[in-house]
Amino acid sequence: MEKIILDGRTVAKHVTEKLVDRVKELKARGVTPCLATILVGDDPSSETYVKMKGNACERIGIKSLRIHLPKETLTDDLLNVIEELNQDKSVHGILLQHPVPSHIDERKAFEAIAITKDVDGVTSLGFGQTAFGFGKYPSCTPAAIMEIINYYQIPINGKFAVVVGRSPILGKPVSALLLNGNATVTTCHSHTVNLSEIVKQADIVVAAVGKPNFIKGDWIKEGAVVLDAGYNKGNIGDVDYQECFEKAGAITPVPGGVGPVTISMLLKHTVISAETSTEQSH
Ligand code: NAP
Repeated sequence: MEKIILDGRTVAKHVTEKLVDRVKELKARGVTPCLATILVGDDPSSETYVKMKGNACERIGIKSLRIHLPKETLTDDLLNVIEELNQDKSVHGILLQHPVPSHIDERKAFEAIAITKDVDGVTSLGFGQTAFGFGKYPSCTPAAIMEIINYYQIPINGKFAVVVGRSPILGKPVSALLLNGNATVTTCHSHTVNLSEIVKQADIVVAAVGKPNFIKGDWIKEGAVVLDAGYNKGNIGDVDYQECFEKAGAITPVPGGVGPVTISMLLKHTVISAETSTEQSH
């Protein structure tokens, strides 16, 4: 079987090209889709991510409202900013860049985002809806992984999927999405015993660990599909790409895999939210 490199840039281009006309149509009806990004503090990586997301919006005509708050911002001040954005009818999506400074109650801040504007899928209500199978905006990285799977028509029905990582924005929701697609899913974490033996059985492996080159080549079943959500310092994934490439049937590179598709999902969700807002105002 031919080995497939799952090219996230191609998938992202496919997604964003389809959004351009939808944005034009919205504008013709007097609505400019708008994503508000909130950055608290001055973490350089977070600044870069927020900038990338804002620029990606503007490239396809989505307005990017960039709010940068000082690192001393208190939870209540942040909650007030979120509430103002919730009330602002010209704003269709709200993204609070993670992580916020440690003195802030990040979960409380995420939960304050209105479900209709939770385009990054960070609220527990959004997660619950995703798990039930009717969520409008799953977290963007899990949505990106599913988009890659769909684009390359990778069968998941009845397959054994192993997700390494169980964070609320990544491991857990991607496990739920795979389960909804009728995969049999095992979610692993730092207390999992015999991790490599479990991964070795997987038809589909999702790496969401946050540790560079963590998943090794000899953990991968011949021909398995390997999706690497990891993004570590120096553009390194959670999967040892060189080793795993040899065994995998299909694999995402880092960079150029899940990352670009994640941003395109954010744009897609913002456009859907803007479209929904026009339906509701009629
Ligand atoms: P996180 O919140 O730190 O979660 C990491 C998960 O990995 C946890 O569930 C943890 O288990 C598990 N883990 C840690 N060490 C492990 C070990 N030795 N064995 C098995 N499991 C282990 O990280 P995250 O936010 O989900 O992010 C994961 C990765 O995805 C990072 O590299 C991040 O940069 C990347 N990411 C990429 C995108 C993108 O757009 N591509 C977006 C978001 C995140 P416990 O729960 O037991 O602690």
